[in-house]
Amino acid sequence: MERVLLIHYAEIGLKGGNRHQFLRRLEDRLRQVLTIAGVTGTVALQSSRIIVQPAEGQDHGRALRAVLRVPGVASAALARSVEPELEAIKEAASEALAEARPGTFKVETRRADKQFPLNSIQLSQAVGGRCAATSQRGVDVHNPDVVVRVELTRTHAFVSAGREPGPGGLPVGSTTRLLAMLSGGLDSPVATWMMLRRGARVTGVHFHNRSLQGAAVLEKIEDLAGVLAWASGKLPLAVVPFESCQRAIVAAVPAPYRMIVYRRAMFRIANRLARIERALGFITGDSLGQVASQTAENLCTIHAAAELPVYAPLIGSDKVEIMQRARQIGTYDISIRPHDDCCSFLVAKHPAVKSTPAMLDELEAGLDWEALVEEAVAKTARHAVAADPDVL
Ligand code: ATP
Ligand code: MG
Repeated sequence: MERVLLIHYAEIGLKGGNRHQFLRRLEDRLRQVLTIAGVTGTVALQSSRIIVQPAEGQDHGRALRAVLRVPGVASAALARSVEPELEAIKEAASEALAEARPGTFKVETRRADKQFPLNSIQLSQAVGGRCAATSQRGVDVHNPDVVVRVELTRTHAFVSAGREPGPGGLPVGSTTRLLAMLSGGLDSPVATWMMLRRGARVTGVHFHNRSLQGAAVLEKIEDLAGVLAWASGKLPLAVVPFESCQRAIVAAVPAPYRMIVYRRAMFRIANRLARIERALGFITGDSLGQVASQTAENLCTIHAAAELPVYAPLIGSDKVEIMQRARQIGTYDISIRPHDDCCSFLVAKHPAVKSTPAMLDELEAGLDWEALVEEAVAKTARHAVAADPDVL
């Protein structure tokens, strides 16, 4: 009997002709995160599942936690791999159930090998009988606490008790690169995670005003990137110096409109970075109506400075939902650490809630964007952040 990780994949099952490419990409991502988690072993496709076989003495729980962070993974379970033979399956099932959380159970069987002498229902009944006898647990076919799963292929039976949901979606690399505007707050890391889950390759971009933000915010961005990087192994990060821009904006633009211009300036710089990175869009944590800069009017004005589509997956989410998601993906505790926000630099107490792109073009007339963007891009610092092993 061998201990393995049994992984079911999500939507890639629907991708028809591209299926193999998607699966190869998912296998690559799984290998990358296992390496970073410090787990050695093999990753292999077995009919409609992926089997991770950690080497002797490896930490299976750690391997499980790592693979559960990879987009494309619908679910994963610690499983036993045995001969496709009734007695071995029964024994593996009762052992697995003994290690699972308490409560009622049921057995579910999937048979890829139709040659097996029992059909799925008969096999579930036979295995269930043994499990009931050895565990003294009750069977509940409608709402069990634990589902014992038996998956039969021609060569193996995989037996598990309890599986955990993964992110679903598509493996990173299924879609083209996007630039994620990471502020250090709660929203932008969640938005970034959602686009990673849609298979985007992501480069994080943070605009940093050294003269008013301490090093704490850079540490936050680094830590957030270390969590998000688990989607694929690492996350490239660009830190853009923003003090010259902000100084110029404060001198030229009245306080109620500065926040809008700060964000337009970010897009102007990001437009250039996107060309360098060959990115096809931007990710932001915008959520309609959440703050003054996120009224429909102001978002219209701000996004008008972007030359590529702006993906704001939280646009229709409320704060409670966003916080729940942040907890679930592990960014919440980092995001709530206090930091100085460059967007609040010398802005009005009551910022404008309405604006138009034309109005802003006029207010920005005195700004030398060419030079400001040029300088910011030239001084941008880039590095890649590896997934942080401590968060597993
Ligand atoms: P968050 O929680 O993500 O900080 P927020 O609700 O505080 O968002 P804003 O401060 O208005 O909202 O920022 C909206 C979006 O603009 C952010 O989600 C982020 O994508 C982007 N953004 C703001 N400040 C920065 C920054 N310093 N660097 C990079 N992106 C930023
Ligand atoms: Mg913010």
